[in-house]
Order: sequence, then structure tokens, then C-alpha cells
Amino acid sequence: MKELILFGTDQHHVEPDVLEAAGSRGKRAVSLADLRVPVCPGVVIPGEALSVFPENATAAWSILQKPLHDIEASMEKRFGEGDTPLLLKVVESPMLNVRSALPSVHHVGLCNTTIDALASAMGETFIWQEYTFLITSILRLELVIEESETRKKQLKEFREELQAAKRKESIKSVLESFSGLLPEQIFSEPFFQLAYVVRLFRKAFALSPTTEDSAIMIQAMVYGNLDSQSASGYLFTHHIITGEDILQGEFFSGSFDENETSGAPLATLPSERLEMLQDISRKLEDHFKELRWIRFAIEGGKLWLVDQASVPDKSAQAEIKTLLDLLRRGTVTEEHVIRTIKPGRLSEILHPTLDAGSVSSFITLEGGIAGSVGAAIGRVFFSTERLVVAHRQAQQAGEDTNLILAMPSTFAGDVKGIEIAQGVLSSEGGYASHAPVVARSLGKVAMVRPDITFRDDVMIIDGNEIKEGDFITLEVPYYTTPRIFIGAGSLTKPTPEDSGLLELLEIVQHKIGKIEVHANADQPRDAHLAKLFGARGIGLCRTEHMFFDESRINRFRYMIIAQDEKTRTMILDDLHKDQTEDFYQLLKIMDGLPVTIRLLDAPLHEFLPQGDAAMKDFVAQAKKDKMKFTKQEILARSQLLREFNPMLGHRGIRIAISYPEIYRMQTRAIFEAAYKLKAEGFSPRPEIMIPLVMNPHELKTVRNGKRIEGKHILGIRDIEREVFQRLQTEPLDYKVGTMIELPAAALNAGEIARYADFFSFGTNDLTQTTYGISRDDFNTFFSDYTELDLLEGNPFKMLQPQVRELVQTAALRGKMVRPDITMGLCGEHGAEPENITFIQETGLDYVSVSPFGIPIAKLAIAQMNM
Ligand code: PEP
Ligand code: MG
Repeated sequence: MKELILFGTDQHHVEPDVLEAAGSRGKRAVSLADLRVPVCPGVVIPGEALSVFPENATAAWSILQKPLHDIEASMEKRFGEGDTPLLLKVVESPMLNVRSALPSVHHVGLCNTTIDALASAMGETFIWQEYTFLITSILRLELVIEESETRKKQLKEFREELQAAKRKESIKSVLESFSGLLPEQIFSEPFFQLAYVVRLFRKAFALSPTTEDSAIMIQAMVYGNLDSQSASGYLFTHHIITGEDILQGEFFSGSFDENETSGAPLATLPSERLEMLQDISRKLEDHFKELRWIRFAIEGGKLWLVDQASVPDKSAQAEIKTLLDLLRRGTVTEEHVIRTIKPGRLSEILHPTLDAGSVSSFITLEGGIAGSVGAAIGRVFFSTERLVVAHRQAQQAGEDTNLILAMPSTFAGDVKGIEIAQGVLSSEGGYASHAPVVARSLGKVAMVRPDITFRDDVMIIDGNEIKEGDFITLEVPYYTTPRIFIGAGSLTKPTPEDSGLLELLEIVQHKIGKIEVHANADQPRDAHLAKLFGARGIGLCRTEHMFFDESRINRFRYMIIAQDEKTRTMILDDLHKDQTEDFYQLLKIMDGLPVTIRLLDAPLHEFLPQGDAAMKDFVAQAKKDKMKFTKQEILARSQLLREFNPMLGHRGIRIAISYPEIYRMQTRAIFEAAYKLKAEGFSPRPEIMIPLVMNPHELKTVRNGKRIEGKHILGIRDIEREVFQRLQTEPLDYKVGTMIELPAAALNAGEIARYADFFSFGTNDLTQTTYGISRDDFNTFFSDYTELDLLEGNPFKMLQPQVRELVQTAALRGKMVRPDITMGLCGEHGAEPENITFIQETGLDYVSVSPFGIPIAKLAIAQMNM
């Protein structure tokens, strides 16, 4: 393309095919001009035109004369003449959107004949410094093309002396002492200067294959410091933190110093200027379909757009709210909104984020595995017991109750510690270990760092000793590496309700398709959150979490310690009241939606006190509570319950087989709660789920009961009948199903389906047992495997091929026997966008994820479906 491309003058319009020749910067300027925003006018010389551009200044003038006149007319200024002569900038416009390697040349037109007029308008110091900037840029271009080493040396010397000169006199004397190094007309003839700069670019482009197609852009410059009618400033088209639909920015009258920290608020600009800025902002947002940054100048009362750009570090909330405003204005579609937001960014809205400035001077320890995203600050404690005491004391003294639990690993008994802490730091395990799983469900921060050494009352990370009670700050971002800062930073608290998230979720829901998102929730608080985020049910209520409350744990422990069924039943009768209330609340909150309640899964010893001190306290408490066990009996029973391999041990349905009274109590509590709600006019939908089933006989026994040697072991269905008859209300719609979390269960799925109304794939355990890797110890060798590329990602996040095969096999076999079987997935894998396609294609009905994971999972599903 040989013609020049003029823009910004007189409503000039440029055709799209012509635009391509303008290079990336030129294209941007031309497109903006086409939007009718007051971009400074200019002209682009495409690469092809430039390559044949005349050397001779007079010949060059004949080509540039007409566009320059048009630019002068738009700017109401003359190049090289008048009180405020027009100045220009000349920049490379590369074909690709990359940073230019060549210097931009600003203030072209500034020379002996124009400088005095401009100095009296804008100040001597300013204009002479800009003059040195112009000449040094020309020297830098000269250096790119110069071949002679001697001349190169002289040019460098000139440039350095010019850069060091600060005042008019010293600048003048440097220019004089180097006169002869550049053509004299550069300092006296504005047009010659312009033609010379264009020639330098042409020569520089010809030297490099990366620039030979580049165009150049010549554009008018404006000055916010020209007179009292002038100003300059910047703005964001929406608030970059809150996302409010307001112009956020400031302006500087008279001068614009980027280092000046406080300009005047935009609201104090005259209203017609503010309206123009509003109008420009709208046009830019509508064009780019996002929040933009704008730099503007008002010169002699006239407003100009100087620069504009994308804002990569805007908050997730600002991104969402801007997109929703664009949707309301009809600028973008729902699909665009859904496609644009990265699912992981939603975690910023759901969790506190770190104020980066608050930790800039702290020791920073980078590394580790993200367990649950967010940021947390608090005093660190190395045991749940000590953390609970510290919390109580801080509460009583009215002091800061922000605490962080740090332990090698956590167990069910530590849930209460994680609950009151802001975050949890552990050294064993990984993403699917206890601490991260619990933290995610409670919306707490979690990080795993295998390199922590715990020693009595200190932990050592990377050679740094952190004592119990010291403040630390945890930052676990979604997309980058976690960090620990030694000291207390500050946080920005999330406000999901005002963030636009709920509105976004409504839009997302239109594209979710058949698959549903359920919540892993066991507390009313989680259930409320799940409903807020539009969960279609609770997919996993882990009932073991319900016994760790301070008011219950010891009763539960007494039940475990008791040797005889009679004592156990007596204690269970007592716990039964609490459980009924638990289920009543959950079913009521989720009225009309399925609530999948998993009967006790954890190995019993997990409920016993961990460590000598905790055991001592427990023994003392048992005595106070007048329990009949001796210390020896307690210790002996605890010893008996210990297992070498608890994850493969006495847990799940195996507890139901050995201690049917525990499952009986839970089942009765579920039906009593549900029938009570029925009588009150609610529509409870309990779904009882049995964990760790390996074959159909186990499930049949627990579901239907069994008569053996004259003894009748009650099944879930017997208990339902008994409660129904006792309470005499309307019949209840309930289901009994199982988790599929052992390879044997997956392969037995056809037979198992005879006794299961639903399957829920527990891919945490299924991954453990398929690959023979422990979700708690896997980290010890995971990094070696990653280094050698031996696994496709973290198996506790990414569903591995053989786990997928087992899920597919089970789904197929289950459906063959029971075509209307409902199937879901409740392992941690459900929250990972990468697994969603497989889950949908396998025909599962839902994924169940922690309440905080619901928005992320929903957005990921919607994106996959588009
Ligand atoms: C699972 O194993 O995938 C599961 C959801 O159960 P849990 O994590 O409680 O063992
Ligand atoms: Mg499991």
C-alpha cells in the first residue's frame, strides 16, 4: 500500500483493508479516530510507501504537505509557525502487536525558530528539557544506523552530554560544541527536521528483518500545561477495584507530573468536559468490550484523548461488573460475558485478597501447594488445642482473634481448629488431604509446604524460624505459586453479594445444560451459601464433621470407648437428639432439593484424642463426667482401634457392619427430621449414602437388613418404616445409594446398582485405591514424578485415565441394571474445570463441590458448553 493513511481529521473514515497496512499502533489510532473520539490527528506512512519515500526534503514535503495541512486545520495550529506551533511525534507502528525496538521521537518541530514561543507558553525549563529529549531520540536513531565506530563514539558522547545538561544555557553550549555532527537544518528548519526523522526510521527499518514491513505514524502532540485553560489526567472507565460505573481518576492543571501523587478529582472538572470523558469512556468500552485506562489532555480548553490501554490488574469484581454493564447496554452477549471471565478469578471475590503493599517489606517464602485459595493473616499455632485456647483468651481480652493453624497434617479432630482459624498450613499431603479438603469446604485458606520442619514451639521454613504466636500472612492465589510472608499484612474482605457474582451466576445458569452443581456441605452456614450460589442440592454431607463440636466430641468418644452395645446405645440415644436437629436444619434450608447425607465414614480412632496431652485431658474429663472407664481401659481401647493403614481400614460401611447401632442412630435421626418437616408442610428429600462399599452384599445388608441365627439386623428401610409408623405423617420420597470409591465397587457396579438408587463417585478414594497412592503422603515423591513427566498432572486434581475408565465402567454397568439411577461425582476432581468435559460425557447428572467452588464449577461448565 503506497498511499498515506490520514486519521482524526474532518471525520475521515478508513476502510478495513487499508487499516492492515497501518501497523499495530497506526491501526489502533485509526480505529479510535473512526469511533469519533477526539484522538490527536495524524498520518501513517505504510511500510511500502516508506521504502520508496524520497531522501530529498523538498520531495518529501510534496508528499507530506497535504496531510500536514489537514492536521494543522484540525489542531488550529501551524507547523513551524505562530505563538504555539504544532509539534508532532513520530513512532514506529510494527506489523505485529509488539513493543517497538526503536525510540519514539517526540516534539518534532521544536527548533531555534519555534522554541522561544513555546518556552514563553509552557515554561523555559520544561521546553528545553523536551528539546534535549527530541535531540537525544534523534541521536539514538542515528546510533542504530551508524556504521563508523568513530562517529558512533561521537554521537554517544553528544547524547550523554545532552542528557546531563539541565538548563537552557548548558544545553545550548552542548549543542554548539557538537554542531556539525548533525545537519544544521535540524536545529533551524522544522520541516527539514521532520523529513530527516522519517528518513532515519526508513534506514533503521531496512536494517532489520523484524522492522522492514513496519509503518510509521506521525501524530499531533497536545500539551496539558500550555496555559490556564489546559490540564491533563488519566482515568479508568469503571472503578478498577469495586467495578462501580464511575470514572475513577484525577487530573493535573497546568502541569502533568506522573510522580505527583495527588491530582484533583475528576468530578471537579467542568461538567461539559466530564460529559465528554464519559462519552469517550463509553465508546471505548463498547469498542474494546472491557474496562479501559485513558490518558487525556485539555489544551487551550479543548479535550484530547492522548493514550488508552487495557487494564490487566483490574479486580475480578471490576471485570464482572463492567461486563454486566456492557451486557445491559447491549454491547456484548451473554456468551461473551461467560467466555471472558477465567473461572479461577472468581475465587478473588469469594475469599479475602492480600493488599500487596502491606507485605512488600516482609520476608517472603514462595513455594508449596495451593490447598484452598485466598489470603489469611494471624498468629500461628502448632496444635488445635493450643489454638482453641489462644482464641478463647483473645476473645476474652478483646484482642485480635485471627489465628493460623500450622501442623504436619490434620485429622477430623482438628476441624474445629480450622473452623476458628483464618487458614491452615501443613507439611504432609497435598490437594486432596484432610486440611485442604476441610479448608475448602469452610472457605478457609490452605497451603501445603513439604519443606516445613516442626520442632516443639517453632517451625522452620527455608532457614527462617517462626515461633508459636508469631504473625504470618498466607497468600494462596488461584493461578500462581503460594507465598508465606513473615509478619501481619492487611487484607481486602470479599463481598460476594455486591460483586455482580450472583447476577453472573444467573446468566451462567442459562448455559449449564443438563448437568447440575451440588454442594459438599455439612453445616447450615454452608447450606445457605450453597443456596445463594444456586446449588441444586447437597451432594455430600460428611456426617463425621458433625461430631467434633466441643459439646459432642467427648460423648462420641465415650461411645467409642464403651465395650458393650448397651452403653454405646445409651450414649447414641443422647447424640441422636443432636443429629436429628442437624438434619432437620439442613433439610429445611434445602427444602425441595436433594440432600445426600453420607453416614459415618471416618475410622473410629480419628475421633480419639491425638497426642499425650490431649489424651491426658480426655482421661481427666471422663472421670469428671463419671464415666465408668479406667485410664487403662481408655488407653487399651485406643490402642486397639489404632490402624496401620486407616484409609484402608475400619471405616465406611465396615463401621455399619461392626457397630450397626451407630448407623441406626444416624438413619433414625434422618427420618425423624424428614418426617417432622413433612408434618410442617416442607418437602424434604433425604438421600442416604453409604461410603466405602466394595460389594453388593454389604450394601444389601445395610439397606434391607438381615436375619441371621434368629437375630434381625435392622436395615435402613426397616428403620424408615418404623419411624413412619410411629410419626404417622405423609409418605416420604427418599433414596438410598452408595459411594463408588473402590475399584471393586466400580467393577461390581451392576450388582451394587440393584440396591442403590444412586451412585456418587468418590474420586479421592478411588484415585487412592486405583493407583495405590495415599492422598496424604503422595507429596513425598510427587515432585520426582513431575520432574520426569511420569504422571498427567496431580492425580488428586486431574482425573487419571484408569480412574476415568473405572467411572465409565461403573456408570455403564449401573445404568444397565437400573436405567433411572442418578449419578454424581463428589471428589475434589469435580471442582476442576479440566475434568468437566469427561464428567458430562460420561452422563453423570451432577458434580458436588465445596460451596465456594460452586461459582467456579458453574462457570467452567458453561464455558465448556459453548
Ligand atoms: C472421596 O473419596 O472422593 C470422597 C468424596 O470422600 P472423602 O473425601 O470424604 O473420603
Ligand atoms: Mg471417600
